[in-house]
Amino acid sequence: MSDFCCPMCEKQANERKARPLYGTKICKKCYYGLTNRRQLAYVIDWFIWMFVASFVTVGLAAFRRSLMTNSPPASVESIRTIIAIISLLLSYLIMPMIFGLKDGFSGMSPGKWICGVQVLDAETHLPISFIQALKRNLILIVPLLPLVIAFTLAKGYRLGDKWANTKVVLRSKRNHLVFTGGLSCEDCQYDLTGNVTGNCPECGRQIPEAAMRQIHEDAQTTMMPA
Ligand SMILES: [Zn+2]
Ligand SMILES: [Zn+2]
Repeated sequence: MSDFCCPMCEKQANERKARPLYGTKICKKCYYGLTNRRQLAYVIDWFIWMFVASFVTVGLAAFRRSLMTNSPPASVESIRTIIAIISLLLSYLIMPMIFGLKDGFSGMSPGKWICGVQVLDAETHLPISFIQALKRNLILIVPLLPLVIAFTLAKGYRLGDKWANTKVVLRSKRNHLVFTGGLSCEDCQYDLTGNVTGNCPECGRQIPEAAMRQIHEDAQTTMMPA
């Protein structure tokens, strides 16, 4: 056993199996733990959404039937058109919108809430807005992309995250340095302990403001006399 200590769970782990999450190497268990939660959250959201969508479809069909039977024969054609427009709007605009906005509730969709994960702004580390939720989830409506994302999200950022400036964290450890980005550079994995400049000395990447706040706080507590 190597002497690698996982910064996330603070347990000894095999360094060869450690993987970088947002640039910081963590143990295999922590790494896949978050990945599994994210994948499960998506599956839960998808099932809830399908459930809602089938209710909407059934409801719309019932509405159509009642309109048809209670209206004079002359207006049947216009009712058909109106219902067709409503179904089109629902299937291509309203329902995808609802799925896209799902992470906007304090950074949590129902699935994410159940699985203990949250989406935060990569810079400020605050729960994302509905606009950011829509930006990061818009990509999910492209056929097969959710599958591609499921297999590539483990390293932290997934497709859509960079554009929306968001990152997914474990809710119980949301302020951990691995998630704020204060331990290692997300691009080159350079050690950022004690950084004062706000940029990675190796590659120049700007360190998120939430991480800089934490680095300063840590420096102050270690400088304080015991
Ligand atoms: Zn760990
Ligand atoms: Zn760097």
